[in-house]
Amino acid sequence: MRGMIIIDKELCKGCGYCVDACPPGVIAIEENFNQKGFFPASPEHFEKCTGCGMCAEMCPEIAIEVYRE
Ligand code: SF4
Ligand code: SF4
Repeated sequence: MRGMIIIDKELCKGCGYCVDACPPGVIAIEENFNQKGFFPASPEHFEKCTGCGMCAEMCPEIAIEVYRE
């Protein structure tokens, strides 16, 4: 199964839970901060996403949407 995620950078608080939760290491923390001053998460390695949904389950801000093929 292939997957894709969309992260709402303005909802993200940069906690990093999704980074730790993602088995294939798709997500990284950006170097630029968002409008609230947090460094948001970003899907850096799209091609590795399986659509498992672990990242979205861990996100306390409900900032991640997961799509599966
Ligand atoms: S859906 Fe799964 S594989 Fe894709 S970014 Fe989230 S945790 Fe990683
Ligand atoms: S778990 Fe949610 S709030 Fe935390 S870094 Fe990831 S997207 Fe941002």
